[in-house]
Amino acid sequence: MMIVALNNKCNLTKKEFREYQIKLQEVKTTSKLILCPSFLYLDQFNLTNIKLGAQNVSTTDCGAYTGEVSAKQLKEENVDYCIVGHSERREYQQEKNEEINEKIKRLFSYQITPILCVGEKRSEREEGLEKQVVLKELTMATKDLTEEEKGKVIIAYEPIWSIGTGLIPTAEQIIEIIHTIKEMFPQNKVLYGGSANEENIDTLKEISEIDGYLLGGLSLKPEKLQIFLEKLEK
Ligand code: PEP
Repeated sequence: MMIVALNNKCNLTKKEFREYQIKLQEVKTTSKLILCPSFLYLDQFNLTNIKLGAQNVSTTDCGAYTGEVSAKQLKEENVDYCIVGHSERREYQQEKNEEINEKIKRLFSYQITPILCVGEKRSEREEGLEKQVVLKELTMATKDLTEEEKGKVIIAYEPIWSIGTGLIPTAEQIIEIIHTIKEMFPQNKVLYGGSANEENIDTLKEISEIDGYLLGGLSLKPEKLQIFLEKLEK
């Protein structure tokens, strides 16, 4: 079954989220949809056709950590998945692989499945470093996990130059990276993320190595998301 994770990022007011949820309820799909809204709306989530995810988690458990949200608190909100290591957090919050590793361990201790984002910058691809970057991020983020835990991590390959830019890699570029990932993580689901939409899905869906998608911009447009899913599942 294809996995399609929806990353709302820091979008939607409470009223907009309510309307959005009503539209999402109507979406028809055979894929596993995972909605990752703002923390603020986790307790308003009431859809039965979609799984719930978070966009981030604390490296710490509950305690004196102002502004943090712990894995234990997420579990109480029925969160089953959590994005970690998104490139926006790596860039704007200077998140490092060591912290991402801590977050993944916290998630597993509350049976929450991490969706680990990895991917190279434009300059790294220009220098031919993309495989090296992705493998380093994966190795560091999964350090000291059991083999069973390692196999459960959902990996999202998101070339940074593709996120929100409308640019997507060629099929050969995506296949090459996914093969590299799967050599090291043969059991893992690997999603593609970066400007995937209802138009380029016709091309992307030909890539049999892709186990699903992480959608940013498109996640906020339920009508276009429906077209995307129909084309993906045809
Ligand atoms: C993302 O930020 O995870 C993402 C895939 O964004 P977009 O689809 O907007 O490129």
